[in-house]
Amino acid sequence: MAIASQTSPGADTSLQELAKRHLWLHFSRMGSYGEDHEIPLIVRGEGCYVYDDRGNRYLDGLSALFCVNAGHGRTELGEAAARQVEELDFYTLWSYAHPRAIELAARIASLAPGDLNRVFFTSGGSEAVESALKLARNYHRMHGKGQKHKVIAREIAYHGTSLGALSATGITELRSQFEPLTPGGCHVPNTNVYRWPEDRHPLWAANAIEERIEFEGPDTVAAVILEPVQNAGGCFVPPDGYFQRVREICDRHDVLMISDEVICAWGRLGHWFGCERFGYQPDVVTVAKALTSAYAPMGALIASDRVAEPFMQGTESFAHGFTFAGHPLASAVAMANLDVFEKEDLCGHVRAKESEFRQMLETLHELPIVGDVRGAGFFQAIELVKDKETKESFDEEEAEELLRGFLSGELYRRGLICRADDRGDPVIQLAPPLIADSEQFEEIHAVLHGVLTDAWERVRR
Ligand code: PLP
Repeated sequence: MAIASQTSPGADTSLQELAKRHLWLHFSRMGSYGEDHEIPLIVRGEGCYVYDDRGNRYLDGLSALFCVNAGHGRTELGEAAARQVEELDFYTLWSYAHPRAIELAARIASLAPGDLNRVFFTSGGSEAVESALKLARNYHRMHGKGQKHKVIAREIAYHGTSLGALSATGITELRSQFEPLTPGGCHVPNTNVYRWPEDRHPLWAANAIEERIEFEGPDTVAAVILEPVQNAGGCFVPPDGYFQRVREICDRHDVLMISDEVICAWGRLGHWFGCERFGYQPDVVTVAKALTSAYAPMGALIASDRVAEPFMQGTESFAHGFTFAGHPLASAVAMANLDVFEKEDLCGHVRAKESEFRQMLETLHELPIVGDVRGAGFFQAIELVKDKETKESFDEEEAEELLRGFLSGELYRRGLICRADDRGDPVIQLAPPLIADSEQFEEIHAVLHGVLTDAWERVRR
């Protein structure tokens, strides 16, 4: 991801200096924050907007990394946490339970489609994916198929950074520096249909999963992990029938289907879960981020009755856990967050407004640098190209100059936080809070139109 440092000479430097000296930012080039380059410092949030330490306002077009779906500044979520502290500060789920985790697990099960009824909490998304991969291996072992350990994921997909989750992540630059990873990660093509030849069969990428299972040997494959809409690469949506075909393939080869919904759950695609949008039934769903709208860190895996059942018998157990998982404060915040979702019908709002949002982005097609606009719900991407007709993309050096050298910083300077990403071909991604409406869409459009027009002038030079 391209995050540029910001230049604003004369800022109050005390927090800046402490940050530069002591804070280690994730996925960031710390060396780029020098004398005249500040770390963006966000100090306050309200609705769809956040404010920096100098009082500048930004439209949070990425919901703080796909997290704050209910919007910023919901004091009732903090109040729920405060009430919880008065009752019970912390207890662990290692052989104990507490009321909020029970209520939340039951509520998630009631919202999840089909028989996704068993909730295993984690502290975040990577832990949820890690847990799902371990669960898949363990599930097969319990059925006498201990050789089934591999996971099939898609190229360029991001599934987290812990060594197990990273083995599913399909981004070479993130993997290669940390190899050897947990063995068993296999990768297949994604659904970047913009780059497919026109005569390619719509189920080509789904069929590639079956070919890979057969190549690896079905006896060795534990799971397939897929996002409903793949984030990295820029909001790749599935062709019609893709997930139904994957479901058939998984059933045929006794492979678990894991829907990684760390981004796509909790209204992002206009439904509680992304799989509902595309009408498929996974065996396991992983969630995090907006489960609490990120007012507290929390993730979970949700397993079907069939997958959970062997672990519920006699002396069996899932020998896995995290101290903070299902924390009472996070559980209370999640309950309050889901109350907000229900009271304000945020999923319905996304469904009602997504075409307006999308149409506004589509008008950017008039700009020569805009090659494709794609996505679903409040999760959209714009792919940038050098040549609209041929779809020619930027080479590595040009993408670096365009994204880090210009776009990231300029969008921020003009008051829009969104993502300029080059983990695949260069894209700009937008995922505003689910309360965003016409006013925010227009603001996003105005900033993008100006910045992309200027970007094209630079490209042509
Ligand atoms: N899976 C997906 C699809 C994600 O988008 C992410 C993070 O963005 C993760 C897993 C990892 O989540 P976390 O950063 O909470 O560990």
